[in-house]
Amino acid sequence: MYDLIIRNGTIVDGSGMPRYRGDVGIEGGKIAAIGKIRESARETIDADGHIVSPGLIDAHTHMDAQVFWDALGTCSCWHGVTSVVMGNCGFSLAPCGEKDKLLVMRNLERAEDISPEAMQAGIKWSWTTFAQYLDAVDRLPKGINYAAYMGHSALRTYVMGERAFDEEATTEDLQLMRDELRAGIRAGAIGFTTSRTTNHQTPDGRPVASRIANWDEVRQLVGVMGELGAGIFEIAGEDTGVEGPRLDNYLGRLKSLAVESSVPVTFGMFSSRRAPNYWRRYFETADETAAAGGRMFVQVHSRSLNVLLSFETNMPFDRIPAWREIRKLPLAEQEAALRNPETRRKLVQAANERSRNEERAVGAEARGANYNWIFPLDRPTPPYRSIAEIAAAESKDPVDVMIDLALAKNLKKFFMQTLVNENQDHVLEMMKHPRSVVTFSDSGAHVSQIMDSSLQTHVLSHWVREKEALTLEQAIRLLSFVPAYHWGLKGRGLLREGNFADVIIFDPDRINPQLPELTYDLPAGARRLKQKSDGLLATVVNGQVVLRKNEHTGAVPGKLLRGPMAQA
Ligand SMILES: [Zn+2]
Repeated sequence: MYDLIIRNGTIVDGSGMPRYRGDVGIEGGKIAAIGKIRESARETIDADGHIVSPGLIDAHTHMDAQVFWDALGTCSCWHGVTSVVMGNCGFSLAPCGEKDKLLVMRNLERAEDISPEAMQAGIKWSWTTFAQYLDAVDRLPKGINYAAYMGHSALRTYVMGERAFDEEATTEDLQLMRDELRAGIRAGAIGFTTSRTTNHQTPDGRPVASRIANWDEVRQLVGVMGELGAGIFEIAGEDTGVEGPRLDNYLGRLKSLAVESSVPVTFGMFSSRRAPNYWRRYFETADETAAAGGRMFVQVHSRSLNVLLSFETNMPFDRIPAWREIRKLPLAEQEAALRNPETRRKLVQAANERSRNEERAVGAEARGANYNWIFPLDRPTPPYRSIAEIAAAESKDPVDVMIDLALAKNLKKFFMQTLVNENQDHVLEMMKHPRSVVTFSDSGAHVSQIMDSSLQTHVLSHWVREKEALTLEQAIRLLSFVPAYHWGLKGRGLLREGNFADVIIFDPDRINPQLPELTYDLPAGARRLKQKSDGLLATVVNGQVVLRKNEHTGAVPGKLLRGPMAQA
């Protein structure tokens, strides 16, 4: 008698091996049998016409705060994701005592667009050290599995307080940081992360704490993991320019760090229309690192990186003086203003004359408009038509095109502003690169700016079904086994007897992201973008059905995935 049998499905097991028909029997949270199963079970799912595959793994999220108020790990769970890694880019909520929580929230607020009110209202702070934070996450009800990095900005702020935001670490500071990092890795942190990018700023325009660290501080901290022989290092990299000595210097340091410390090094990478082949240097560095005895793997996205624009959230005109007052009004009053011909004329004119010395947008904040790279969001996957193309076809001003499209939906219309990864041939080439991992949703962060929790269903709908550029077997492997392997998530990412029963069942002809929407469902009523998907029949985590057709069953079988030094 099994706990659960998934019958008659087509199994794509995550290894890349060809699919086959069969049943999956689950007992005690693990896969007990695969094949023709004659026994019965307490619960049966008929997967006829569906694919049965390992749950997907997203190793680049920022759910550190969200896990306290959202057991399910939305929106990732709605796209087949059953395990996430949080604490990326130097941002974690520990180590940090409650009295200093505003300091770590400051690191997160602008850099990751997480509302401080939501964090204040939604988190019951019960920790100081990273080990205590892990215990707190361990106790929470969880729909999916979570692994956590320790973030450099939190660690630095914990040891140095306000000094973390403008001073170099003293020998004593560094010693304290090393001690806490060592304790955190021993307690089950999956690794250590940092940010050195100018995209990561505090609300008052200062660098987040990790950016103040010199490279020797980074080396010494990564060295702690090297000494322990455990942990992964993730970095939001330096802004070195796209070629020249600064880039060479940075990549050289990254490679030496990986080789000297033996710690796997990973980072996210995009292609860019401004420097189309820049990304190749990073992949070459990963190859060279491997040849020299280190490990380096590159996190890539499955499509363009788009900021979502709307009058309800952010628009490219928000920093223009003539627009500022109007954009502060309730949506209905903005609509009334835009329907007033005189007001509208002035706004369009101001948008076209926009000043060049506006405050620089960072991270995923809306940029000034380039209408070749803004698209009305009418469907979840490409092709899209740019505002510039529509304006040319209709002989209209592009600003008018955007206003008209928005007004037609009472300003509830979304547009996409593409920042990077414009060239889809490059996107595909990067996904297929042997040293890449398809994972970069940033789930839990940039909550009113981007919605990339759907990057996994985008692979299955766009690249597998519409473009036939990847087989389903290849795609599932990229989204399950490959991240499980790199992050050392033992017993996950493959359908194998004895492995944990993280399983998704989906219709390959229907799997598709839905259009994103805006909701106000965060603690304290804070807003966020939300996106679900079609085609998922069931999502099983540790042997229990957590979602049926993407609706929560009430089960919370998710686990804290502790790093290698704390595994039972
Ligand atoms: Zn990140």
